[in-house]
This record gives sequence, C-alpha cells and structure tokens, in this order.
Amino acid sequence: VRLYVPRDAAALAAGADAVAEALQRECAARGLAVQIVRNGSRGLLWLETLVEVETPDGRVAYGPVRAEEVPGLLDAGLLQGRPHALCHGLTEAIPYLARQERLTFARVGVTDPLSLADYAAHGGWQGLKNAAAMAPEAVVQQVLDSGLRGRGGAAFPAGIKWRTVAAAAGAQKYIACNADEGDSGTFADRLLMEGDPYCLIEGMAIAGLAVGATQGYVYVRSEYPHAIATLNEAIARAAAAGWLGRDVAGSGRVFHLEVRQGAGSYVCGEETAMLESIEGRRGIVRAKPPLPAIEGLWGRPTVINNVITLATVPVIMARGAAFYQGFGLGRSRGTLPFQIAGNIARGGLVEKAFGLSLRELVEDFGGGTASGRPVKAVQVGGPLGSYVAPADWDAPLDYEGYAAKGNVVGHGGIVVHDDTADMARLARYAMEFCAVESCGKCTPCRIGSTRGVEVIERITSLQGAAHMANVALLESLCDTMERGSMCAMGGMTPYPVRSALRHYPQDFGIESTSVV
Ligand code: SF4
Repeated sequence: VRLYVPRDAAALAAGADAVAEALQRECAARGLAVQIVRNGSRGLLWLETLVEVETPDGRVAYGPVRAEEVPGLLDAGLLQGRPHALCHGLTEAIPYLARQERLTFARVGVTDPLSLADYAAHGGWQGLKNAAAMAPEAVVQQVLDSGLRGRGGAAFPAGIKWRTVAAAAGAQKYIACNADEGDSGTFADRLLMEGDPYCLIEGMAIAGLAVGATQGYVYVRSEYPHAIATLNEAIARAAAAGWLGRDVAGSGRVFHLEVRQGAGSYVCGEETAMLESIEGRRGIVRAKPPLPAIEGLWGRPTVINNVITLATVPVIMARGAAFYQGFGLGRSRGTLPFQIAGNIARGGLVEKAFGLSLRELVEDFGGGTASGRPVKAVQVGGPLGSYVAPADWDAPLDYEGYAAKGNVVGHGGIVVHDDTADMARLARYAMEFCAVESCGKCTPCRIGSTRGVEVIERITSLQGAAHMANVALLESLCDTMERGSMCAMGGMTPYPVRSALRHYPQDFGIESTSVV
C-alpha cells in the first residue's frame, strides 16, 4: 500500500515528520507492508498533515492528522481508504481542489518532488523537449502569444522581456529567478519549489534556450531552507540526467543553474536590489534605466522573472500558447495561484483563472474567518497592497480591473481580518514595515516612513483641529512617498495606508469619508 505524507515546510510545521514516523512504526508493528512517499503539499493548509492512501478508486485523504491519531486511523481502515471522522473521501473530489484550475500547480502534492521518473510520468520535460526542437524566436513567440505576465507583482508581459533580452547584444546573458517571496501571506513560490522543483528548472532551461542565456540563478530567501535544499538536490539530479548542463535536452546548447541564498532583506525582492545581492553586494535598489534586460547581472542582458512566471512556461510550451491563453479575463490571461491567509478558516493555495471575485476566494474557498466573526478587511497583493473596499469584493479579479480602483493583484496574496481589526494600527504597521525594510537610498521612503508612523500615532491620539491637520498631513506625506520614491517599497506603502483611511475612516476617528 502506498501512503503519501507531505514533506512541505507547512506540513512539517504541522508535524508531518512525526506522522510519517508513526505510520512507519505502527505499520511495521502490525506487519503491514507500506511505502511512504513524501510528496509536496496539495495546498489545503488547514488539513495539514494531510495523509493520502492510494486505493483502486484514487487517492483518499485524511486530515489534519496528528501522530497520536495514527493507531486509531489504522484500526478504522486507513489503508483501505475506509471512512473516519478525519476522512475527506477522494482527494481530487474535495471541493477546494476540484473547483481549481491547476495548470502551474498540476503536479504539486501529487508527485514525489525529487523523483525524475514521477516528473516525467506526469508530463514533465515535454515543454523543454518542444523548446529544444524549435528556433529560439519561436519559443519567445509562444510565450508572447500565451499572454503570460509577470506573476511576481509587476505583471509585465514575460514574452516582451524575453524578446528584449534575446535581441540584446552580448555573448553572455543570464536568467535570474526571483524567489525572494517576502510578501506577508504569500507562499506559492515556496510550495512550488518544494513540491515540484523540476517544473521551475524546466521553465528556466526553456528561458535560457529562448534568449541565449547559458547561466541561471535562483535567488531564494534564507527563510526557505527546505526549498533551498530541495532545489539544490533537484538541480544536481536534473543535470545528471541531461536536462541542464552542456547539452540541454539533446539540443547541443548550454544552460547551467545555481541557487543563491538571500540574507533576510525584504527589499532584495525588488529586482535590481536582487541583482546587487546575487553579485555579492548589499541589496540596494539600482536606478533604472538601464533596464536589467539590457544591463542586468554583471552588466549583461538578464531575464528576471518570478518563480511562478517561469514555472508556468513548461505548460505553455507543452500544451501550446492557445491553451493557456484560453483561461482568464481581458488582458489577464491564464491562471493565478492565489494564497489565502490571515484570519481564515481554510487557508491555502487556490489556482484559478483570472476573473473570480475576492468574495469567492474568501468565503467559498476560505470559509470566512477562522474566528467565526465577520470579515472586516481584506488586503490583496502583500504588505504594499491595498485593503480592497468591501463594495469591490464581488468585482472580477484581474490586473486592469484592480488597477482601475487603485488596487493591486501583486503576487496573489490575500490576507483576511475580522471585525476586531483596528485599521489605524494596521496602517501604522505598514509605515513601520517600510521604515524597517527601506534600503535607505531615497528620502521619501527612508524618512517618510518614520514620519508616517508618527503622524498616524498623532491621528489616533489627538482630537479636534490637530487631529484633522494630521490627517491632511498623512495624505500629503503619502503623495510625496508615492511620487518621489525610487521603487515600490516607498512608492506603494501608501496603498494600504490610504485604503485603510478611505474605507475605514471611523478607525481613524473620522466620521465621514468625505473629509479624506
Ligand atoms: Fe530604497 Fe525605499 Fe527608495 Fe526603494 S523606495 S530605493 S527601498 S529607499
């Protein structure tokens, strides 16, 4: 009998290692022959540790399982997939999973992340094989035609970036993957790197062939030790099998790949600060132009894409641009792995085509708050994203629709708060976060964030005219930060601050939204 117990960090935090050991020990004591596969996480994080058993009808899920529950589960017939209070039936039929459109995450949680045989058996390397047989320009055209845009947050069309690097002069070019996933409430990159590392490797190799780059780097934050270990092992195995190195997939072309570890700085998720860090310097934002596509790593043309962007390329190259383009809304093509976190009953990863609403994500998938209290505020797009106005919770989620309302989709992170949240405190926290994480290069961000903390403290402590004067001062400060900062750190910190002020004025001691 084959059992699956995730090796993903989220599952490990919930006790997955102890569950795997208990299963091994208890089955051995009962003389039951089992094979335990350590898969990635399915992304149903509230059910971790999620144990699955292979049955003739498919995999049956049990969760959340604790080590001490293993003997009882075996007594109840876990190995036969029999009913139990923790049994959810066939994994693929769990509504949270069944309603998703998993293209990028199709294998995550299904396969053994480091098994090359598993990867190939589930469609792996087909995209790279197709790319290796095509002219580089044709590969770039496929990515352009797919409509894929950068999933790190900026949503810039990936194909245009690739075309720029392909056309740039120079014998040495690079692919840099941004895996510095620092946004609070986001974990899609980590889930992918730990659960299906070959998918990212394949996407980067395709990018290398398409633009003529011979070296790639995956810049992973130091807070992700499991992802780093998994990627390093996967890169070694992929190279030994001929998917990387001097003759990528039999193409006769070269592509080497290395992991570079960050050192705990949020701003190193900004692409030019990341380049500085990869080059071995302190992570400080570079002025643009020149664009990294023209002068990136060590002054050479460099494609910088996020993990999810690159890991989506294999499915595009395997199934065609039209297939991927068939998902989505308007100019937001394909799917996005949304990550639901914060005060939420069913937190986890939901990959869906653009166009669903925030309410569907928070209520239908997420099941409302974990506390059971009403949802008060939802922040979309990480710590620099806005609190989306409750009136817009039913609007379709896509890049243009969100931008038109002053919101951002970002990396797809969604953080939920219940009605006990104090939005003035959350606004103060946004400014404090910026003050702590600012790289210090420009004044509006470095000084403005500290002044922002002070102004919000005065708004919440003063009354009357002094109170209103500080509200006006906060608006003015936000203007300066938005217009005068060099990068999104200072430029977008006003988004959560202003949206909190606009949609929840009572938390700032203001009665009417008309004054702000
Ligand atoms: Fe650095 Fe902040 Fe300026 Fe960005 S906005 S360059 S993080 S000081």
